[in-house]
Amino acid sequence: MKIETQLAHLGKDPATDKMVVNTPVYRSSTIVFPDFDTCEAANLGRHSGFTYSRHGNPSTLALEEALAGLDGSNHVLVFSSGLAAVTASLLAFLESGDHVLIPDNVYGSTRKMCEHLLVKMGVEVEFYNPVLGADIEKCMRKNTRVIYTESPGSMTLEMQDVPALAAIAHAHNAVLLADNTWATPLHFKPFEKGVDVSIHSTTKYVSGHSDLIMGHITTQSKDHYLKIKKIFDVTGPAPAPDNCFLALRGLRTMQLRVNQQMENALKVAQWLESQEEVERVLYPPLPSDAGHGLWKRDFSGGASVFTAVLKATGRDAIAQMVNGLTLFKMGYSWGGYESLIVPFRAEKIRTVTQWKHEGWCVRMHVGLEHPDDLIADLAEGFKRMK
Ligand SMILES: *Cc1c(COP(=O)(O)O)cnc(C)c1O
Repeated sequence: MKIETQLAHLGKDPATDKMVVNTPVYRSSTIVFPDFDTCEAANLGRHSGFTYSRHGNPSTLALEEALAGLDGSNHVLVFSSGLAAVTASLLAFLESGDHVLIPDNVYGSTRKMCEHLLVKMGVEVEFYNPVLGADIEKCMRKNTRVIYTESPGSMTLEMQDVPALAAIAHAHNAVLLADNTWATPLHFKPFEKGVDVSIHSTTKYVSGHSDLIMGHITTQSKDHYLKIKKIFDVTGPAPAPDNCFLALRGLRTMQLRVNQQMENALKVAQWLESQEEVERVLYPPLPSDAGHGLWKRDFSGGASVFTAVLKATGRDAIAQMVNGLTLFKMGYSWGGYESLIVPFRAEKIRTVTQWKHEGWCVRMHVGLEHPDDLIADLAEGFKRMK
């Protein structure tokens, strides 16, 4: 099946749901066993069906079935948040004394989790320059178990050479975990590029409507899936059934939204590039972006999220600009139908690489609004900035 058809048909089975077209929300804690034998099998961990809703129920299974295959794998696990999926994936492969390599432009909460949880566990956490590519080999140690990648990275969007990282990881008996949220399950095929575990914040484009928090992972091998499932089962980051229903509904239109939003984002980004207030736009689909070659080689599309680096601008000027915007709302997250903006200072969010620009940056997410209206909103903002 082609992806469009998959998105329309997977994750539902009217014959088991009273002929209702969509899988209903199964709100549950308890799952009842039909007989003694089944209950005993469940007690012994040998029952293959549902046992207790923290480990999964028909709502989580329907979403997992629909997500299966999108990354090119049937091993899928859904979580209560993207961060829970990141955390379980890292915990599955690391123990005290191990070394892990994390890119310097990693999602901020992933960084905090590494610094607060992995370090506390006795894992050696090393941040690396995301543009190293095959030169990451010089960071490898005898105890390196995991290379982590996020391409493009959060906020500053440097692209990474994922196949090169995979080759080095595998030559050193380590695994490559990839946060694939930006590319969505549609536009980067992780397992064709050597990734072992693909991690998504389902909160973003799968949901698409800014109304839930969820995550999911897919793995190439069953063994890796089972390692992560073990951590899932002993820590309990189960998603709410209502959120699974909403994510499944979002998934049905994901491809249309993602592709339209990227088209809109390219228009806004190209307009920004031509403005005198803007120094650079960091967005791999733009030919001017340093990572454009890697993006073209490895991706078939991506998110409508990018960053504009503004020319040296004071705090008051940037505040004037963003405070008066009417369409771009100020807020975290992205992947919804509506446009968002976040002002930030890039030098404050990295520890091993230097940020060479002086001024403020704005991270933007472009929604489904008409790009002409969005451009007019930003043009007014630049007028206020002056
Ligand atoms: C949002 C995000 C996460 C975390 O996802 P939550 O669902 O908010 O926990 C992880 N990685 C990236 C790249 C993100 O943008």
